This record gives sequence, C-alpha cells and structure tokens, in this order.
Amino acid sequence: MFSNWSDFVIGQRQERDAAGLWRERRELTSPQSVSCVVGGRDLINFSSNDYLGLANNPALKQVTASAVTRWGVGAGASHLVCGHQSPHENLEADIASLVGAERTLLFSTGYMANLGVVSALLARGDVILQDKLNHASIIDAGVLSSATSLRYAHGDANHARKRLATFTSRRQRCMLVSDTIFSMDGDVAPVVDLKRLADEVGALLVLDDAHGFGVCGERGAGTLESLGLNPRDNVLMIGTLGKAVGGFGAFVAGDADLIAHIEQFARSYVYTTAVPAYVAETNRAAVKVIAGTRGDHLRARLDSNITLFRQLAKLHGLTLGASRSAIQPIQVGCEHQVVKISQRLEHMGFWVVAIRPPTVPKGTARLRVSLCASHTDSQIEALVQALATTLHEVLNV
Ligand SMILES: *Cc1c(COP(=O)(O)O)cnc(C)c1O
Repeated sequence: MFSNWSDFVIGQRQERDAAGLWRERRELTSPQSVSCVVGGRDLINFSSNDYLGLANNPALKQVTASAVTRWGVGAGASHLVCGHQSPHENLEADIASLVGAERTLLFSTGYMANLGVVSALLARGDVILQDKLNHASIIDAGVLSSATSLRYAHGDANHARKRLATFTSRRQRCMLVSDTIFSMDGDVAPVVDLKRLADEVGALLVLDDAHGFGVCGERGAGTLESLGLNPRDNVLMIGTLGKAVGGFGAFVAGDADLIAHIEQFARSYVYTTAVPAYVAETNRAAVKVIAGTRGDHLRARLDSNITLFRQLAKLHGLTLGASRSAIQPIQVGCEHQVVKISQRLEHMGFWVVAIRPPTVPKGTARLRVSLCASHTDSQIEALVQALATTLHEVLNV
C-alpha cells in the first residue's frame, strides 16, 4: 500500500504553488477591525465580513464579560443532551421575531447549518438544484446528502426551471438552494423568481443569507425582508452570526415543523457541542443593536460607503461588477497577478484579499473589496486611488 505521504503532500504543494494558488494565513496582532495590525504594519482592512464593525464593539465586549461571569466558558454538551441554556433559547426567539419566522434553530457555524439542513431533508433519489456559484458549504451539503446534485447557470431562474424538467417523478423531493448575496461576486440572486419556481414544483426554497442578515432590509432582517418575504411555508432562511453580527454561530429559520425535523435529523446539529452561552448572549446583544436605531445608522453608513466606492471607482476607470452590496469584486483573471496586486496594496497600507480558484472558477481570480460601516470617506478615496495606480502598473490598463 502507498506509504510515502511526505512525497504526496509536497507534490500537491508544489503543484498549487506553481499555479499561484497556495494560500498563507496572516496573523493579526490586533482585534478584528477596520484598522488592524499585520506583520507589524498598520493596515486599513478591506477584507473583512465584519460589515457593521461589531466584532470589536466595546458595549458587546462588556456583554461578553458579564455573560462569562454568569454562564461560564463552555456549554458542556450538545443541545439535545444538556448543553441547551437560556441564552441559546432566547437568541433563537429573538432571531425568529426579527426575521418573522415561526422558529429558528442555532448551529455552530453557517457551514454546519448548510450541511445539516440539506442532509436532514434530502436522501438518495432526491434532487438538490442549486446556483453554480453557491458557497462551498452548499455544494458540500449536496454531496453529503447523496441527493442528485443539479447546478443551474448563475442567477438564471429560467435555466433552473429547465434543469428540473428532466426530473418529473412526484416521489422525488426537490430542494432549490441559493446564496441570496453571492459571497465572491456580491450580486443578488433572483429570489422572487426562485420562489415562484419553488411554489410551482413543490420544492423547498433554501436561501443562504450569510451576507444579507444584519445588513439588508429595513430592520436588518436580511435580503428576504428587503424583498417583502419571510422564511415561512416552503422557504427556509440560513444566516450566520459571524459576519455582520460580529460574533460566531449560525441559524436556520422557518416553519416550526421543518425546524423540528432539522433539530432531530441534522447530524451537524445533533452530534456537536453547543456554542458557549456567552457567545449566544453576545449574539443576542448584537442582534438587538442591528434591529434598533444604531443598526439603522450603521446600515446607512455602509450604504453610503458602497455608493462612494462605486462612484470613485467608476471615475478612475475601474471595471466593477453588478454588485450593489458590501462585496465589490475587481476582476483580474490571472492568479499570479492578483497576488502581486494584493501585495502592492499591502505595502501601501491596504488589506484587500486576493481571491483565487478553487474559491472562484478558473480564470476569474479577483480582488474582493469588502466595505464596512466604519470605513471613512478618506480611507475609501485613498483605496480607490491605490487600486487605480496598482492595477495600472501590474496590468498596464
Ligand atoms: C461565510 C458563509 C457561510 C459559512 O458561514 P460560517 O458561519 O462562517 O461557517 C455560508 N454561506 C455563505 C454564503 C457564506 O458566505
């Protein structure tokens, strides 16, 4: 049997490295914030999902400190054994009320929520129909469930309908799954068309609002709120608490019977330790901020930062995508060049992460600018200037 593991991993590494795809972690010696310290250098962070600046919010840190004192540091067990405490129960109720769902269920991460929801509801012979550019966790969820996985062209509900035409057996369950705001492109799924299709064929529509919850909608309830929809009947909404909420964890929201089923059958829910109660308490306080007037203010700041970035980028001749969200990709194409640009930006004091395959399709390597509420106008102006200069130098455009 094969035993030379060392040669195997070194070979794989060399292959990835030569293709410009090997990734290195960067160590922050500061809290997660718009101003951070990496490798001894002060950087303005344009790579974070902490859209509302809550990850290092002083009031929330106070909540964490008192919750640790009250509840301790660990949950001690999974939810169904003895790890389900009042902060978890209350957080579920608060999120349900914000998003307008009968019930929600907490997961430890969005990745686990997607694995759990899909595999709890689908089995071999069923169909998962999903957008080509869905997040990796949904793709993996399809594989784990053993359902037949069908992909449709990005953002194309008509193509989704065509893909379904070949599956007509009435015994087959079908789940239609999409990111609402796509994590690497920032554009929005055709949610209303997908809902219509799901209604017509009896599919369950699962919407992963990782990048919308907290940020979109009048009260920050997410993309569904902004479209006048609720996670009810045949619509399930998945949200993470690690992005705009600034903490850690995730949830699925929807019809109470569906959620009760997921609670029983989602293995990534059942067989794992509950997040610590202090994490749940902190998330609760953050959700309260999001739903209140402070949240309104932060969302307004974020929106005006997005508008400013797009205006300035156009003025400097940068090519932007269709995104109106905080995620603003700038296509480069070549994996080596995108890394070079990102490194030059870092030397100029800006942290803009290079996104490469397999996170995005081959030949679509890009810079992904993430805007936050706490960026100032002058930081955004300086970034656009640096982007224009660097793109010009490296790409000769
Ligand atoms: C980040 C992300 C997830 C994973 O959420 P975590 O809580 O970080 O595990 C799931 N789906 C999408 C679309 C994401 O962007």
